Amino acid sequence: MRAIAMFPTEKKIRLVDRPSPPLEGAEQARIRMLEVGVCGTDHEIARFEYGSPPPGEPYLVMGHESLGEVVEVGSAVSNLKPGDLVVTTVRRPCGEPECRPCHHNRPDFCVTGAYTERGIMRRHGFMTDEVVDLASNMHLVPPEIADIAVLTEPLTIAEKALIELDSVLVRMPWVNPAKEEKRGLNAVVLGAGPVGLLGALALLVRGFDTWIYSRESASSPRAAWVEKIGARYIESGKLPVGDLAKQVGNVDLIYEATGSAALAFAALPAIGKNGVFIFTGVPGHKTPVTLEAERIMRDLVLQNQLIYGTVNAGPSAFDASIRDLGKFNARWPGPVRELITGHFPPEQITDVLSPDHGGIKNVIRFGTPIGAAVGAKAAAASAKGGARV
Ligand SMILES: [Zn+2]
Ligand SMILES: [Zn+2]
Repeated sequence: MRAIAMFPTEKKIRLVDRPSPPLEGAEQARIRMLEVGVCGTDHEIARFEYGSPPPGEPYLVMGHESLGEVVEVGSAVSNLKPGDLVVTTVRRPCGEPECRPCHHNRPDFCVTGAYTERGIMRRHGFMTDEVVDLASNMHLVPPEIADIAVLTEPLTIAEKALIELDSVLVRMPWVNPAKEEKRGLNAVVLGAGPVGLLGALALLVRGFDTWIYSRESASSPRAAWVEKIGARYIESGKLPVGDLAKQVGNVDLIYEATGSAALAFAALPAIGKNGVFIFTGVPGHKTPVTLEAERIMRDLVLQNQLIYGTVNAGPSAFDASIRDLGKFNARWPGPVRELITGHFPPEQITDVLSPDHGGIKNVIRFGTPIGAAVGAKAAAASAKGGARV
């Protein structure tokens, strides 16, 4: 079977041939890979800046944003059957006795750093024709969202952040997190890449008044997309990020999705009263940033502000992500499909990973669903959603 492999020593990305993985336990399932999304982490891996093969192996099979179709299940698997569509989680526990998060199947909170990640860190990924994993790591996808389900994993960044936000918002008795209803709260997303745009959809379905602040022109297609989903667009060249309140009013939430430390820290003074700032990006540059530290510290204390970072994601975030994609599909069938800007065969991986390859979410397609019912439903949903860009 085909697999897209990153060779760190040779500094090469190429297709390799691997044997199909057999089931090795009664709790495992085997899936045919259908689609695998490409993200910033894959670009870093392709630049040989991040990621590592399993110990002792010459290459890493890439890919962590997946959609697969179950073809075989072990005798102890009761939650899945052949033909089911699934998204598989990425991180695996470190197995160290002292790591309580990993023992609770929350390797996204691993304290030893010895966790593995499929397609990223010391464990082969999903850019291959077939994959075996524990069925408990696979999350069932309804057929209606088959053609957008590859967005599940990148959406888990926002989902985990917003699950955590609920535990913060309970401090405000006038906001009811249980109802997933945050009307009257203003959220600003920094960045209009896939993480930011998916984050904006997740904020909108929770009732936040949502702005996206990014560098593209206000007359760009991306800004038009933002207006189409009912969010508002702010062109960064027109308003310093520290002045966001002038346009937004009290900034209750800033969701950072750029990975730029300079932009993120310049935005800190814009957090409003009782506001929250969520970091999701990993900065690439090492340029020092100047901070208004006294002002930031004073505001944090006197305005009950909170800053936290989050890395995706646990099982609850995957389930929430699949639920939310269903809501996005009902409310914005066209725009949510426009986030997927291209499907490419595995043979074109080096093109897709080249720095000047545009698009929002590009997807490597290994196969299409073979379940007849699945195919028909997905085609109908796709037709309803309109053309892709
Ligand atoms: Zn990713
Ligand atoms: Zn751990």
